[in-house]
Amino acid sequence: MATDVEIALQFAPRPISEIAEKLGIEDHYLNHYGRDIAKVDLRALSHNGRQPGKLILVSATTPTPSGEGKTTTTIGLGQAFSQLNESVCLALREPSLGPCLGMKGGATGGGYSQIMPADRINLHFTGDFHAITSANNLVSAAIDNHIYHGNKLSIDPRQIVWRRVMDMNDRSLRKIVLGLGGKLQGIPREGGFDITAASEVMAMLCLAEDAEDLQQRLDRTLIGFTYEGEPVYARQLEITGAMMALLRDALQPNLVQSFEGTPAFVHGGPFANIAHGCNSVIATRMAMQYADWAITEAGFGFDLGAEKFFDIKCRIAGLDPDAVVLVTTVRALKMHGGKQKNALESEDLSAVKLGLGNLDKHIESVMLFNKQPVVALNRFATDSDAEIAIIRQRCSELGVAFAETTHHADGGKGALELARAVIGSVAQNRPFKPLYDLELTVLEKVRAVCKQMYGADDVAFTKEAAKDLQLVEQLRLTHLPVCIAKAPSSLSDDPLLHGRPRDFEVTVRAIQINSGAGFLVILTGDILRMPGLPKQPAANKMRLLKSGVIEGLE
Ligand code: ADP
Ligand code: MG
Repeated sequence: MATDVEIALQFAPRPISEIAEKLGIEDHYLNHYGRDIAKVDLRALSHNGRQPGKLILVSATTPTPSGEGKTTTTIGLGQAFSQLNESVCLALREPSLGPCLGMKGGATGGGYSQIMPADRINLHFTGDFHAITSANNLVSAAIDNHIYHGNKLSIDPRQIVWRRVMDMNDRSLRKIVLGLGGKLQGIPREGGFDITAASEVMAMLCLAEDAEDLQQRLDRTLIGFTYEGEPVYARQLEITGAMMALLRDALQPNLVQSFEGTPAFVHGGPFANIAHGCNSVIATRMAMQYADWAITEAGFGFDLGAEKFFDIKCRIAGLDPDAVVLVTTVRALKMHGGKQKNALESEDLSAVKLGLGNLDKHIESVMLFNKQPVVALNRFATDSDAEIAIIRQRCSELGVAFAETTHHADGGKGALELARAVIGSVAQNRPFKPLYDLELTVLEKVRAVCKQMYGADDVAFTKEAAKDLQLVEQLRLTHLPVCIAKAPSSLSDDPLLHGRPRDFEVTVRAIQINSGAGFLVILTGDILRMPGLPKQPAANKMRLLKSGVIEGLE
């Protein structure tokens, strides 16, 4: 089969104004970034007066490090809806350079289910990540500048919680000393970088309803403490107006199209293991406002992205999906059945059977939210019919809808069966029920997620986490939802435990207060907010050809 880049070269894009017109977005709302990309003015949200369409959430079983095809399936499913002459629009996250250059590669789907122009979306796109990075780092610069110029607010340099960010996997920047070099270079202190996808500014932009809401979130963001232990908020630095200026265009969702011309909003990109894991509320709303079906993806497995999609995003924004797709693959289930990463291509029926526990757990998890999943088996060329039959059989035993898809090789027509199953599942879904009430204690909320989503026996807080908890109580923020940072490759907090781990306890190492975003980040295991590059980064394969084509970005 052709590579993603070769397929992208066959692509004949329609002007983005035509895609917007098809959705019914008036031309004067478009802010063009070349022929194929436009940002859409937020005023378009309140301007067509129609009932919002239905929302479909695409999630997955616990993935291998390469990903199991949620994005690709979301795009393929959208194209299938288009082929069925349904009005449809996708809502996806913007790729981060971390995975693009690191382990996983791009995030624009694959094969004949890609969003276009894939190279530009993967690299820089409309500059939203740059804007978010700049707004985040303005806060950092303002903090150090404030201390340098006399520190009127009495900020304790040892108790600054706000970190710098950068859109790069750079482990050397996790912990650094700032301000070395004498009197003129500022006040020395410890600091460090997270990846931009983990920035609270990213989360705030993705959860904001509009500019006013974003302003309020920025204002109430905790940045550190005074020597007396009093909290200091971003508004006290008098820079949130400038942050809004930097974020003005980034707040507008980006409109692009898929290989087959299905419209897609691609906006915001928080990771699901260290942040809340879904595209912006604004993009989801825009897709629902202009199409009968909006299809969106939540990152990593259902336990990470989808739990946060429900308990954080849907709760805050008042959204509720009408259907849930659970993507799974033969190769992932073989990994859960004990196969090594490099041995997933040869047929192994017993490994698939052994791995089914992971699928079972995620199906149960979807049902905990009052939803009835449709399992999408994303077929790879190396899968055998006998392997797929085992998964089909399990779904039929559990009474769960199942569809095999070949949208990677065949485009939208490879997901028609899935599209029909999804439409058929809508009537079975009831209004979603969050996993926990916000009135519970933080420990109870964390316990609810760990027990119900991850299958843990219980939760343990380290001494440090217990101290953080006291702080949350002091600041009266116990009502916030929890955003648990956890290893994506396991249902547990131990990345090496595959399948359906049992008899384990989750260890909470620290709690970070994201008062602007409106959640508490609960750090478990060794999870880091700044990834590192692997020994052979994806970047090693990338080339810029004389023709201007970028090779090796997939
Ligand atoms: P996710 O969104 O779940 O992380 P992606 O959709 O980004 O996963 O897919 C991960 C990678 O696997 C991408 O490079 C994609 O092109 C590739 N891929 C997905 N489905 C298939 C398939 N059926 N056959 C071959 N490659 C696939
Ligand atoms: Mg994805």
